[in-house]
Amino acid sequence: MSLNVELLSYPSDAELKVAMAAKLCYSPSDISSLKNKIESNDQHDFINGIVSMGHLSVLEHVSFSFSIEGVSRVLTHQLVRHRLASYSQQSQRYVKSDGGFEYITPDSIKADKQSHAKFDSLMSDIAKLYDELLSLNVPAEDARYILPNAAETKIIVTMNARELLHFFSLRSCNRAQWEIRDLSDRMLGLAHSIAPVIFKSAGPSCVRGRCSEGKFNCGLAKEVKIHIALIKEKS
Ligand SMILES: Cc1cc2nc3c(=O)[nH]c(=O)nc-3n(C[C@H](O)[C@H](O)[C@H](O)COP(=O)(O)OP(=O)(O)OC[C@H]3O[C@@H](n4cnc5c(N)ncnc54)[C@H](O)[C@@H]3O)c2cc1C
Repeated sequence: MSLNVELLSYPSDAELKVAMAAKLCYSPSDISSLKNKIESNDQHDFINGIVSMGHLSVLEHVSFSFSIEGVSRVLTHQLVRHRLASYSQQSQRYVKSDGGFEYITPDSIKADKQSHAKFDSLMSDIAKLYDELLSLNVPAEDARYILPNAAETKIIVTMNARELLHFFSLRSCNRAQWEIRDLSDRMLGLAHSIAPVIFKSAGPSCVRGRCSEGKFNCGLAKEVKIHIALIKEKS
């Protein structure tokens, strides 16, 4: 299966909620009159100002859940390093991969016939040994030790908008590994389709100004800006 990312749930009033939380900080009004005022106003400039000022805690009131399929354990190992998020991942302990397992093949391996054939052959040998271990009564929780990083997995992730901005900044960057970068780009498009003002400047640091990667700068800021702008345009 190839990468499949969907938005499972999101706040349809994300930008109103953020605007209300931010206005509350600066307004003497009670919350219900604040809510009425906000509902009748366009919040574009206000949210823009709040985000560019760095008053980002107000973004923590809105969370987005994504279902992610067709990714490797290489990807999810990197994803779960983001601590300000919630995860549920298919277990290799309770879900047996008997009869063969799905796996992700990088394009660089697919590009070379010989490497691709060797890769597939190793995956097939692993699948055979895995089945053999199960048939010898080795529990799935132990047989899984031989499964590769390439093994396909599924995960649900929930992040609030502040953490999503941080995630997009690191993982939609050219310095990020290709598989998690593809995922990040897809999540960015989905989040932007729901809350275009909150995610207006989302993406790696070069989208907002100077690259923060120093000597590791990819040197492709112009191309990256176009790529991220296209993701937002298509969303
Ligand atoms: C290009 C790239 C290469 C990488 N290479 C490696 C590598 O070689 N080895 C490796 O181990 N990891 C590597 N990582 C993972 C990286 O070190 C982080 O673990 C990962 O990106 C999660 O980011 P984070 O810690 O900023 O954010 P999150 O966990 O998403 O947290 C968000 C922010 O909350 C704050 N925060 C969260 N927890 C704490 C805390 N306990 N204390 C204080 N502040 C906190 C920080 O400001 C943090 O930036 C790499 C990441 C990238 C993008």
